[in-house]
Amino acid sequence: MIRLQKEQNTMAENVIIIGSGPAGHTAAIYAARAELKPLMFEGFMAGGVAAGGQLTTTTEIENFPGFPEPVSGPELMVKMRDQALKYGTRIKTETVTRTDLSGDVKKVWVDSEMYEAKAVIIATGATAKRLGIPGEDRYWQRGISACAVCDGALPIFRNKPLVVIGGGDTACEEAMYLSKFGDTVHMLVRRDELRASKAMQARVFANKKIKVWWNTNAVEAVGEQFLTGVKYKNNKTGDDGLITASGLFFAIGHTPNTGFLEGQLPTDETGYLMTRNNSTATDIPGVFACGDVKDKVFRQAVTAAGSGCMAALEAERWLGEQE
Ligand code: FAD
Ligand code: NDP
Repeated sequence: MIRLQKEQNTMAENVIIIGSGPAGHTAAIYAARAELKPLMFEGFMAGGVAAGGQLTTTTEIENFPGFPEPVSGPELMVKMRDQALKYGTRIKTETVTRTDLSGDVKKVWVDSEMYEAKAVIIATGATAKRLGIPGEDRYWQRGISACAVCDGALPIFRNKPLVVIGGGDTACEEAMYLSKFGDTVHMLVRRDELRASKAMQARVFANKKIKVWWNTNAVEAVGEQFLTGVKYKNNKTGDDGLITASGLFFAIGHTPNTGFLEGQLPTDETGYLMTRNNSTATDIPGVFACGDVKDKVFRQAVTAAGSGCMAALEAERWLGEQE
């Protein structure tokens, strides 16, 4: 009975935005300025991340346009949230648990509470995978990072030996990027081959600053106030030791936050939502996806914000066409 009462809803929203990183807030700003009165679910530690998204887990952002001086990640996200609110976005600090995107009116649940919308924008981001080795929590953001492009240029990493874990395209790209700033870049690969594309492998092998350690696992991060080294073990020979390093970068993949969709939208083989070319439109009319939940290549705040803008504009056009 209670559930039935809760499930009754008077009027469908124009657009519900799920997620509150740069993609969600940019979509909210555009949708609100278009007078769509968007309703945002910003999440409550959804995917292990606070409302505001991945940038709330980092310190200084140096590459978001408009901030010649570094801005802290949490501060940037508060500004985006304030801007979304200013133009009329309504924000609920709740995590969407389930959806039914099949009908003309889309349904979104927070536990037993149901909301309806004509259009839905999914901006739930992705969570970087972590290794879970001893020392990881202690040196997280004190030498350990999951984003070389974001953090690699920081002074603490310049001209210092660095370690990258992983053997995919991201690991190769990050090792290449770090080789511009670091001294030697040690790439720890758990198998005897890279998963990365041949083109990327060739670039890594040709780079004299990158040393690949095959069949090697990181087993512990060590340091004092900041990271100073990574203990490793060769999983074939059993050889172990310590690599002196000021930076440890995880590039072992991300998990897109799509569990609540229960497979209603197609994903690629690594779980990222798929959208049409040059568009944020998904296979379901009226459902749009933006930001890291659909982007495994760029994964930057500014690209997430850009696709949030696209999602709102496309949702607005789509709603107009329905009328
Ligand atoms: P996210 O930022 O991941 O936000 C998604 C939000 O949706 C989260 O708050 C999540 O809790 C919420 N959510 C998830 N599921 C649900 C649900 N079911 N219901 C409601 N809410 C939900 N990029 C840069 O450009 N510059 C940098 O310097 C930089 N530094 C970084 C440092 C770190 C440590 C990390 C991890 C990333 C960094 N990035 C940086 C990358 C950048 O943070 C991401 O590319 C960007 O945040 C992606 O934005 P998004 O909106 O797609 O998703
Ligand atoms: P991937 O899943 O492709 O690769 C992850 C890598 O991390 C693999 O080498 C994997 O090893 C390794 N790994 C996973 N878990 C562990 C662990 N616990 N310990 C040690 N190593 C581990 O992720 P990427 O982020 O590299 O790429 C994701 C997708 O994005 C891919 O499709 C990729 O092609 C694409 N991409 C494309 C780019 C481009 O075109 N420029 C740039 C970046 C990404 P193993 O191989 O043994 O499983």
